[in-house]
Amino acid sequence: MIAILKKNADENAVAHLISWIERKGLAAHVSRGSDELIIGLVGDTTKIDPFLLESMDIVERVQRVSEPFKKANRKFHPDDSVVEIAPGISLGGGQFQVIAGPCSVEGENLIRIARRVKAAGATMLRGGAYKPRTSPYAYQGMGPAGLDLLCEARAELSMPIVTEIMDPRDIPVFLEKKIDVMQIGARNAQNFSLLREVGKTRVPILLKRGMSGTIDELLMAAEYIMSEGNDRVILCERGIRTFETRTRNTFDLNAVPVLHYLSHLPVVADPSHATGYTRYVEPMALAAVAAGADGLEVEVHDDPSHAWSDGAQALTPDMFDDLMRRIALIRAAVTEQPEVVA
Ligand code: PEP
Ligand code: MN
Repeated sequence: MIAILKKNADENAVAHLISWIERKGLAAHVSRGSDELIIGLVGDTTKIDPFLLESMDIVERVQRVSEPFKKANRKFHPDDSVVEIAPGISLGGGQFQVIAGPCSVEGENLIRIARRVKAAGATMLRGGAYKPRTSPYAYQGMGPAGLDLLCEARAELSMPIVTEIMDPRDIPVFLEKKIDVMQIGARNAQNFSLLREVGKTRVPILLKRGMSGTIDELLMAAEYIMSEGNDRVILCERGIRTFETRTRNTFDLNAVPVLHYLSHLPVVADPSHATGYTRYVEPMALAAVAAGADGLEVEVHDDPSHAWSDGAQALTPDMFDDLMRRIALIRAAVTEQPEVVA
């Protein structure tokens, strides 16, 4: 349930309303939009009489929120959320960022790849130090040494770093190394204890959609993080498993406008895992930009045939240069206001 307050609502009366809601055993989530103040009532709303609430002087109207996700819901927060990653680098609400780098941190090649993606215009560096592999015998990542390499690249290039966290026991080391964005991978999209634990931090979270996850399940995963207090959540469409076998996954580009409609959270698209093949990454990256994604996550490797993971979907740095030029053209086309013919 949400209460949309009158424009001139007095601050004391608002505080009074919040304590009234809290006394009923519910949480009051306040969202200040550009010209509206909205209070979201989270908890057992059967204890609230909507007619009584609507009869209060400062309340304009009361609306039931039927969706199970509350804090992630656009009804609670009509304006786009903007997640600040580092000074001058924010994602959402018209601020677009490209996250690029290798699938795995492998060693000294990280800094070479990072220099190239930065020169091409990427604003954030990715690389997995803890890898969620389908087989326990496949390469599992460098662990803390991989985080150190990412931190060295960040120090040289002033690029925030994005890297996957798989286990709540690793949160202290991620915090100690001041990892800028913790990624929750597709395989952990419903690891509720991990979601709750990262929700207790203030670190921005790049939350990937589960392999067979619905849009609602993605939003409920975001809700787990937000319900613990961390509202810096970025959603990521990375393809879903379908009957199609010609691509690694099926890129559900519908999810981009649907998520924007249902939620205020920024939406990033990952055309690398969504397609699984280098040749399809560029066209689908451009399609995601045209569909309104707030950012892209793209895998880049300087020697894809020797990459330790996901070489088949990596762009070379030269291909990434070309992609960045085309992204700029598509962004200009979709953000430009069409001329009004008199
Ligand atoms: C990755 O980003 O390298 C990764 C493992 O992604 P996903 O969780 O989407 O498969
Ligand atoms: Mn990968």
